[in-house]
Amino acid sequence: MPELPEVEAVRRALRRIVSGKRIRRVRVVHAIAVRPQGAREIRRAAGQRIRGIERRGKYLLLKLEKGWLALHFRLDGQVLWFAGEQPKSHACVIFELARGSLGFVDPRHLGRVHYYRRQEECAGLRRLGMEPLSAEFTAEQLQAMLRQSRRPLKVFLMDQTRIAGLGNIYSSEALWRAGLNPWGHADEVKPEEARRVHKAIVEVLRAALECCLDPPPDFRNPQWWFQGLEAILGVYGREGKPCRRCGAIIQRITQAGRSTYFCPKCQRQPGGSTQSAKETGP
Ligand SMILES: [Zn+2]
Repeated sequence: MPELPEVEAVRRALRRIVSGKRIRRVRVVHAIAVRPQGAREIRRAAGQRIRGIERRGKYLLLKLEKGWLALHFRLDGQVLWFAGEQPKSHACVIFELARGSLGFVDPRHLGRVHYYRRQEECAGLRRLGMEPLSAEFTAEQLQAMLRQSRRPLKVFLMDQTRIAGLGNIYSSEALWRAGLNPWGHADEVKPEEARRVHKAIVEVLRAALECCLDPPPDFRNPQWWFQGLEAILGVYGREGKPCRRCGAIIQRITQAGRSTYFCPKCQRQPGGSTQSAKETGP
């Protein structure tokens, strides 16, 4: 699932292809991709020039002359570029530009494309919390937010209304890097631990973004997806394998319906306790 680094890499690469171009026609092939809006709303984008591309959390935002297109990829939605009359296989929504088309593709039909006159009309965008790679996201800010929550750390980090753009993969990774147990309560995190979590979040997102940009996204290839990300992952998807830091066996647990990977030995409970995750887990 694309999180902040993947969507940001898409934004930077797509900007070069579509910025300044006029949308000639909009085709909604699968209406489910624009729900709860209808094809009529999305077609308002037709005739408008793409002024720029922005990102908020996991949303990709196309700034048009009179409105915004908000794309959310959910599990495995993606954007593809189709040159000329090339068949636009599997595209759910197609934006025809002068020399090609931008397609929103999602075979699972979970991703969404919406049109808004103003960003504020999008409830999902309105609720988003801090951008973790912005200057406003400091260790002190994170500590203040942690103090207000009793939730398990992993669930806290995935809450888009607190920190925008951190999903299942990079929240697991940040806690592994910080050496903190995903079940630990947010409000028990000490200042020194909060600094470690802050540093871990920023570092893992930066490393992932760098990886996502090299090689850059290839929107012309339907098989394209980000490569080489496993190399920067310390814990995610590594159940049963030895921890890269201490050698203990990585475990997988379910939190809020999602898989959390963690090391039961070197990821400690917050608050300075030395209890292992196994002793205090669910
Ligand atoms: Zn370990």
